[in-house]
Amino acid sequence: MEECKYCFKSIENGSTVLDLLANHDVICPVCRRSLTTSKKKFYIQKIKVNYVYVYDDFFSSLLVQYKECMDEALADVFLYTKRWWFSLRYQGYTLVPMPSSNEKVKERGFHHVARMFENTGLQQCDCLEKISSQKQAFLNKKDREKMKFNIKCKENMTIPKKILLVDDVCTTGNTIKGALHALSVYNCKIKIFVVAIHPLNLK
Ligand SMILES: [Zn+2]
Repeated sequence: MEECKYCFKSIENGSTVLDLLANHDVICPVCRRSLTTSKKKFYIQKIKVNYVYVYDDFFSSLLVQYKECMDEALADVFLYTKRWWFSLRYQGYTLVPMPSSNEKVKERGFHHVARMFENTGLQQCDCLEKISSQKQAFLNKKDREKMKFNIKCKENMTIPKKILLVDDVCTTGNTIKGALHALSVYNCKIKIFVVAIHPLNLK
């Protein structure tokens, strides 16, 4: 029996006729329906932020299970029902995941954002990195101002022409603003996609 990757009940838990006719899923209909969606729009620097879910308690517990409990089996859950739509919608774009600290990636054994988007089949370029707080302390005021968002492009890397910036959650939008800032010197086309958006952004 196939089980739900989150609640471990049967994958058919709570399914209706419609669910049985719908495409295969990796979590049960009860868990999938517990994820909140919204049609409200949100923009960062005039770029529309596309998203799938609203960051609420259920999403948060799913994310904690994946990210903090290092449950890599959950990676495919987030975009599973969107994966075909996604690969068509962003054809020709290269995914650029928001950077995690190297320590975190090492601790988890995987880059949690990059891994969430793997099942879309789109190519990824890990060209952004966080500026460590120690390094920042050595910068003069002007350079610190330039790097106020803690994100920069890695050196000696080719920056893709069409970029889809992706992240797990958009709360303040500062991480994405930092990435936009770092990429602003390159002449590339940029779109934004996050798995979940904080409800404060949807008012
Ligand atoms: Zn379930």
